[in-house]
Amino acid sequence: PRVVTVVGNRPQFVKAAAVSRLLRERVDEVLVHTGQHYDAELSDVFFDELDLPAPDHYLGAGGGSNLEQLARMLPSLEALVADLAPDLLLVYGDTNSTLAGALAARAGGIALAHVEAGMRSFDRAMPEETNRVLTDHVSDLLFCSTETAVENLAREGLRLGVHLVGDVMADLLLASADRAESCSRALEERSLEPQRYLLVTAHRAGNVDDEHRLRALVELLESLPLPAVVPLHPRTRTRLARLGLAERLAQNPHLRIEPPLGYLDFIRLLRNARAVLTDSGGVQKEAYLLGTPCLTLRERTEWVETVAAGWNTLVGLDRDRALAALQRRPPATRPELYGGGRAAERIREIICAYTGAP
Ligand code: UDP
Repeated sequence: PRVVTVVGNRPQFVKAAAVSRLLRERVDEVLVHTGQHYDAELSDVFFDELDLPAPDHYLGAGGGSNLEQLARMLPSLEALVADLAPDLLLVYGDTNSTLAGALAARAGGIALAHVEAGMRSFDRAMPEETNRVLTDHVSDLLFCSTETAVENLAREGLRLGVHLVGDVMADLLLASADRAESCSRALEERSLEPQRYLLVTAHRAGNVDDEHRLRALVELLESLPLPAVVPLHPRTRTRLARLGLAERLAQNPHLRIEPPLGYLDFIRLLRNARAVLTDSGGVQKEAYLLGTPCLTLRERTEWVETVAAGWNTLVGLDRDRALAALQRRPPATRPELYGGGRAAERIREIICAYTGAP
């Protein structure tokens, strides 16, 4: 059987890296890169470092607004689906590439599988939430990372084809954490001591596209009580530069403003940080798995288990809430969440059974 996998941005490369290798042992997987993220530091580095197979097709659909991207991806995907006639199309997460893949599968009459189905922030202002909801409702196989995701789907009437498999980012993280510790020089290169610095990432549209929110983020960064490493997403970098704030941050001796990092360097910095401040979905759960307290720079999260376990605190962009959260000690225990590193294996078995792979 043939499976077409559609990926396009950083977290999807990470997720596909966990699944592709296993899937390829049993099916003919064709990897399509939409080009949503095209910079070397958000794309190429992950293919190199994570042994993700090189894309078989590259659509070059990056840049522009969400709808412009979607509009560029759709005809190319439609043609590819017609040409390749796969038995299944596989998408990940909640981006434009996810939704484009889902629509192309539906239009071509191809079965659709969605990894990270059922995640909900219940914040319809997030473009990601629209992508998740729409994709889930046209999927045939819905692979859930958590029990909460299964419950979210059931509440929307989705029960058929729903599988609780665990989380594929957890697979990759658990498999890579020791390698990161031994291979990465990220601490030494920056003369950082474990537990004596913070890590910060921010790139959600809701935080960086609005001037007031972005200014609040800058003020929060300036008030942090420890030195911080800040690998800046290009989206955030552009917005900061436009408001003349990039230089102000760069001149702050407590902040290391850097380009995005490779996966192993990032994971090592995350594991050894006193805490991470982030608006990323993936980083919240990676922090949990590594035992690093997380402050989420949003008012809601899809990864509610990390909050319930006491390892993640929602602080928005509020300086006082962030500083208070940084004072708290993390809980003594960390229950196992996210499937213990075997999600990709479960996904492969279900896809093989579904497509009749030997
Ligand atoms: N990541 C990375 N380098 C960085 C920042 C993040 O390798 O400088 C990794 C991180 O470990 C996680 C993924 O990128 O696996 C998360 O991507 P992102 O925050 O862009 O996406 P989200 O999870 O918010 O959709």
